[in-house]
Amino acid sequence: MDYDVIVVGGGHAGIEASWAATNFGLKTLLITLNIDNIGQMSCNPSIGGIAKGNIVREIDAFCGLMPEIADLTAIQFRMLNTKKGPAVQSLRVQSDKIQYMNEIIKKILSRDNLFVYQDEVIDLILDENKKKVIGIKTRRGLQITANAIILTTGTFLKGRIFIGDYNGEGGRIGEYSANYLSDFLLKNQFRLIRLKTGTPPRVNGRSINFNKMEVQKGDENHEYFSIASYVNKINKLPQIDCYITRTNENTSKIILENIDKLPLYSGKIKGIGPRYCPSFEDKVIKFKDKSSHLIFVEKESLLSNIYYLNGISTSLAEDLQIKLLRTIDGFENIEIIKPAYAVEYDAIDPTYLKPTLESRIIENLYFAGQINGTSGYEEAAGQGLVAGLNASLKILKKEPYIFSRYKSYIGVMIDDLTTKGIDEPYRMFTSRAEFRLNLRFDNTFERLYPDARTLGLKKETHEQYFNNFVNQKKFFIENFLERKYNKTDISDFNLEKSLNEINPPYTIKNLIIQDAIDLVKNKKKFINIDEYVLKNIQIENKYKGYIDHENKLIDDLMKNENLKIPSNIDYDKIETLSKETKDRLKKIKPENIGQMSRIKGIKQTDLLNVLIYIKKKNKN
Ligand code: FAD
Repeated sequence: MDYDVIVVGGGHAGIEASWAATNFGLKTLLITLNIDNIGQMSCNPSIGGIAKGNIVREIDAFCGLMPEIADLTAIQFRMLNTKKGPAVQSLRVQSDKIQYMNEIIKKILSRDNLFVYQDEVIDLILDENKKKVIGIKTRRGLQITANAIILTTGTFLKGRIFIGDYNGEGGRIGEYSANYLSDFLLKNQFRLIRLKTGTPPRVNGRSINFNKMEVQKGDENHEYFSIASYVNKINKLPQIDCYITRTNENTSKIILENIDKLPLYSGKIKGIGPRYCPSFEDKVIKFKDKSSHLIFVEKESLLSNIYYLNGISTSLAEDLQIKLLRTIDGFENIEIIKPAYAVEYDAIDPTYLKPTLESRIIENLYFAGQINGTSGYEEAAGQGLVAGLNASLKILKKEPYIFSRYKSYIGVMIDDLTTKGIDEPYRMFTSRAEFRLNLRFDNTFERLYPDARTLGLKKETHEQYFNNFVNQKKFFIENFLERKYNKTDISDFNLEKSLNEINPPYTIKNLIIQDAIDLVKNKKKFINIDEYVLKNIQIENKYKGYIDHENKLIDDLMKNENLKIPSNIDYDKIETLSKETKDRLKKIKPENIGQMSRIKGIKQTDLLNVLIYIKKKNKN
């Protein structure tokens, strides 16, 4: 074979997949339509956000690339939801999109074993039995072979762009679409789904009147996505403000008067768009009683004066886009430099994939990112990691690594996609995770780095941080809990303590720990306890009861994989199940809890409800 792995596509999924494969030292080719656009942020100049930020940290635990570059090129850091519980807090950064791409391209081009080439992949080569993929064919006639191929084609498969009456080919505005690979997929029995997404206009900063807008500042003290940024104390880029303005009744009026000219409503766009991230026309038409909607005005880069108008994506005609924006405070003289547009593209039904993201139809063929029906950079990167990691493990003849939904948001996403499929572009929310108190931002490393280490993924900064984290936490819990130390004598804090497993948090006695935290805070200069460790201990202490409860449920679910569901079970008696779920269960009649969990549409809460019901019955 020419390569171990070929990754098709230089978006966020493709980058992370290539990075993961080269983490294992595999010879990898990243082939993409245009090398200048590697790492392009197609839409919002930002990374992270609620639940999405957790995915970025999870990628960091597996030594991925996105977290480090996101920190390095952030121009505003904000920890979201700090007034709410720790399960829903996460980091979001506004990114300098030009510098983000530059840094990614620099890393990719200097990476050992990673080779980059510009061409379009138009077909895949199969073995004689048509069961295994063994290579790619490109538009210019090259044939290149590899042990594994990872497709990460984003919004480019048969991509079409819509702006008012305009409807032309393109994966992103100004870039041509990839029109051939869909045929290969259809020919090989994959089910394709037509999806749609949209992006707002980009405007010239000199035409914005910022005085009419509210200022939103970033956090001065904040965490990072990557532990390496924290340990290395990186030099941040200059930090900037973001601005907020609002639409009004006149803005909505322009939509209402021009419904017939909207491709989304005239039937021209057939692809399914994301309900949770509606276009402005959707917001006006579906939420008629709301006369005003927020717009976040975000600078795309310190190196340009282009602004991104977060909250007003549309496929309205260009002359109407200008009219619409000029009704808004601060935009009276606005100059659009890139219009808003919608894009429609082919994705595959992700239930055709295994939890490793390898296809169930063709061996050694993996899929990651928007092509699997997701939306968002973080979701794409998370899948890139899963596909790159598992393709590598398979080539190295090792066991696959399945991300568990009990242990990571990446696991939740992969499980949802591969067992339930999608009916609209999939985006991560905290509500998708049943055990979100366990999937917090602050405990990501503790949750996942031991697994990464077992797979052989190590990084000097990660090792240093992890050892300190475990040592400090263990020391803190053991010593303060057992009161070995007198309150005034804590200056011999010992970081060299053994690396044994830490005690589970539920053994901590509330009061003593709170005492200890106060003590450490006051005596900070004597003991160098890490802020991240302290925060983690505080959270686990405060939410101990809930965390214990979640852990017990997880244990129950894991232990009960093989628990038999009685054949005479009456699902109608389980009131907490929806009618739809009852009907599905009555039809499929799963034999055990494990089988039930793999039925499309079944949620973890359904499993728990059935489990509790069976246990009660058995007890009786
Ligand atoms: P992409 O970033 O699209 O990258 C795909 C890569 O594959 C590209 O480099 C392309 O050149 C390459 N490629 C494709 N086909 C071939 C081929 N045959 N041969 C070689 N190379 C190929 N996300 C959100 O979260 N919220 C939004 O509101 C949002 N709006 C969006 C609006 C628009 C107009 C677009 C285009 C995207 C939007 N996104 C949004 C999606 C976001 O950009 C993607 O989720 C993310 O970039 C997906 O990453 P990816 O790696 O899967 O694909």
